[in-house]
Amino acid sequence: MHNVIILGSGCAGSTAAIYTGRAGLNPLVVIGHEPGGQLSLTTEVENFPGFPEGINGPDLVASMQKQAERFGAVYVYGTVLEADLSKRPFRLNIDGEWQESSTLIIATGASARWLGLPNEQKLIGRGVSSCATCDGAFYKGGRIVVIGGGDSAMEEATFLTRFGDTITLVHRSDSFRASKIMLDRARANDKIKFLTNTVVEDVYDVSKNIVTGVKLHDLKTGRTWDQDADGYFVAIGHIPNTKPFVGQIDLDPDGYILSKGGARTNITGVFHAGDVQDRTYRQAVTAAGAGCMAAIEAERFLAEGH
Ligand code: NDP
Repeated sequence: MHNVIILGSGCAGSTAAIYTGRAGLNPLVVIGHEPGGQLSLTTEVENFPGFPEGINGPDLVASMQKQAERFGAVYVYGTVLEADLSKRPFRLNIDGEWQESSTLIIATGASARWLGLPNEQKLIGRGVSSCATCDGAFYKGGRIVVIGGGDSAMEEATFLTRFGDTITLVHRSDSFRASKIMLDRARANDKIKFLTNTVVEDVYDVSKNIVTGVKLHDLKTGRTWDQDADGYFVAIGHIPNTKPFVGQIDLDPDGYILSKGGARTNITGVFHAGDVQDRTYRQAVTAAGAGCMAAIEAERFLAEGH
């Protein structure tokens, strides 16, 4: 029986672990299917306060984990398959083993969204990727397609110019959600070619078990054509990881946790932290702040004798 179980090991989860650890609550941190969260898939983080020269994303999350472990947090590999939040202690099925906890901090984040083309799924890890940092180095001298029009797509495309010869950024409209600075940076890079009002209709070639090209469709002209490619990177946003809580925790139509103020959910004793609730800011520093809030609320809740 735990005082607090924290689900997720990104910025939000690890900050919650630092705070609840320092409060003597011996938190159990369930690492989840993306250890370290989104930052572990990033390269340079330039906007986390305290690092004037920037810091490598994986290094930042690894340091947070180390800091939490110093205060007694225990990190375990695993993913929540099922949750019973109908009464306290809360019960969680973590990879087949049930654990009980007085409080719960959900910091499960949000995972990469895919286009959903049948061949895209079949070629994941064979040229199809959602993480330039993880896989970019496989495409030295290659022709790479990046899909999306937000900051992620700009960041991925710019990062991939370190490896690829040509980067084609495919975006379904000609208006961008990306911030001006990141869009300008990508536009200024000679290696990046922008294809706007264009969608990907297929990825080749499943018969060869490797990406060889994409089928593109220009929404304005109606033209459809094939383009050779070695790498295919999707950067079209994220889906909140709330599946085990459907029907128990109040979620918005897209599956993000609905906050009841502060870090509170509709269930007393269950708190949220980070991207699993935040569809607006989604920054490392706001996730860390949210982890702190959730930890303080869990600590006070337990101190009140619940
Ligand atoms: P966004 O939601 O900002 O952008 C998603 C993009 O993908 C949009 O251009 C959207 O197009 C497109 N898209 C969505 N679904 C589809 C689809 N089915 N087919 C084709 N295109 C699709 O997500 P991001 O991941 O880019 O960014 C999320 C948050 O993280 C933002 O707040 C961003 O600022 C932040 N971020 C910050 C970074 C940094 O500062 N270093 C780096 C990366 C992200 P449309 O506009 O037409 O809907």
